[in-house]
Amino acid sequence: MPLWYHTPMTTPQIHDEDEIIANCIFCKIIRNEIPSVKLYEDDETLAFLDIQPNTRGHALVIPKSHHENIYVLPLETTARLAMSVQKIAVALKNALELDGLNIVMNNESAAGQIIWHAHMHIIPRMNEDAGYLGQKYTYVAGEMEEIAEKIKLEL
Ligand code: 5GP
Ligand code: ZN
Repeated sequence: MPLWYHTPMTTPQIHDEDEIIANCIFCKIIRNEIPSVKLYEDDETLAFLDIQPNTRGHALVIPKSHHENIYVLPLETTARLAMSVQKIAVALKNALELDGLNIVMNNESAAGQIIWHAHMHIIPRMNEDAGYLGQKYTYVAGEMEEIAEKIKLEL
């Protein structure tokens, strides 16, 4: 019997997970491989501005560890994520003098999940937005950085 016959193979699962993390857009943002306008960071979570916002100041809060969505988030990670979401929500409210905000998490395609790294949306709302959330906001050059500075001052 040849020697290699006994050599344990790397399980495809482990290989796939490495590949998923290597290619995940949000993991790339965490690793600073692609740019983002960051708002807050601690050992477990990261908050940054959404690049295609529904409204001005639309923020995303993510765990630094890769988990697809709410179904598989470790309880501890969910708790840390929620703590950061609250922190950013209060800072956003004060920095941009919001009338309100929505906190949304899309889980699975049917719910609109596009990026398969768990994340919470914090979406600023003003009275004139009424109930409608389908709109998109377009930033002018430098506006994202300017907003981020205002939010960071409130943290
Ligand atoms: P989902 O539909 O998965 O809940 O939302 C993913 C969000 O990530 C979208 O609102 C989208 O605009 C945002 N997004 C996708 N790619 C990037 C990126 O490279 N940078 C930033 N800042 N946001 C992104
Ligand atoms: Zn990821």
